[in-house]
Amino acid sequence: MKPNAYAFFQGHIVPLEEANINITTHALHYGTGAFEGIRGNWNEERAITYIFKLRDHYERLINGCKLLMLDIPYSVDELCAITVDLVEKCGYRSDIYIRPLAYKSANQVANLKLHELSSDLCIIIVPFGNYLESDSLRCCTSSWQRTTDTTIPPRFKFTGGYINSVLAKTEAILAGFDEAILLNKDGNVSEGAGENLFMVKKGKLFTPPLIDNLLPGITRGTVIQIAKEELGLEVEEAHINRTELYTADECLLTGTAAHVTAVVELDNRKIGKGLVGPISKSIRELYFEIVKGNHSKYIDWCTPADPIK
Ligand code: PMP
Repeated sequence: MKPNAYAFFQGHIVPLEEANINITTHALHYGTGAFEGIRGNWNEERAITYIFKLRDHYERLINGCKLLMLDIPYSVDELCAITVDLVEKCGYRSDIYIRPLAYKSANQVANLKLHELSSDLCIIIVPFGNYLESDSLRCCTSSWQRTTDTTIPPRFKFTGGYINSVLAKTEAILAGFDEAILLNKDGNVSEGAGENLFMVKKGKLFTPPLIDNLLPGITRGTVIQIAKEELGLEVEEAHINRTELYTADECLLTGTAAHVTAVVELDNRKIGKGLVGPISKSIRELYFEIVKGNHSKYIDWCTPADPIK
């Protein structure tokens, strides 16, 4: 029967087709959900799926749940164990995307509050290849502004908040670009629609600070650490103006789905030589080695699951 589509739903692992909710569910109407995007990377040689930084994702989710008053009866350790079970049960022998979603499950349509409403958590797994169409991206600056901590906090992955990213991404794709880069309320570069952003200038890496309204990306943290420790690069969190990006030597986007992907053009202007630069290339190669479980120093970042069990 393997591989097969299962989900964790209402406390149990069930066939995906049985994991359904009613149309009166609060989260469907008001975007009252918090989710994660986690990758499982299939290591063909060892026949193991390595789930990257699983705990970090669940820690971010649990913090988001606190904000949305989503009472989820699982600890980070329990969520990690459930996820490994589900990956093994599904049995995909390919890269996968793991989507935990905590949401207000109460069947209440006219109720604009968070308290006294029931919550649930589900986990979905799908086989997943490349998220971005290209590994040398042509981007545009979005006409949509990034939300702020006092509007819809971008620090967590709230379902409703993703309207902001969806509008930006749609605009970019329909205009013929690969991805959108959003500015914040002050006009500073914030991040991509579904990725954090780095710029290379004179051999040094720069990335906007969290105060510029971005998701504290797990890939962002990984790139900061490996750029310093493995590549000996200087990394600085600094406000970035749009015009600074036009004149950067290199630019890259980072995310669980997007991996580490170079931006070679912004608003029809070439970044650097308009090709994937050497620093972007080395970070990308190192990142792939690590997430596939092929770098012994960082093997603890990879939780093994055996889909053949
Ligand atoms: N920013 C946004 C808006 C995102 O949706 C994502 C993807 N989760 C990221 C940044 C990158 O975060 P991470 O590296 O944790 O996947």
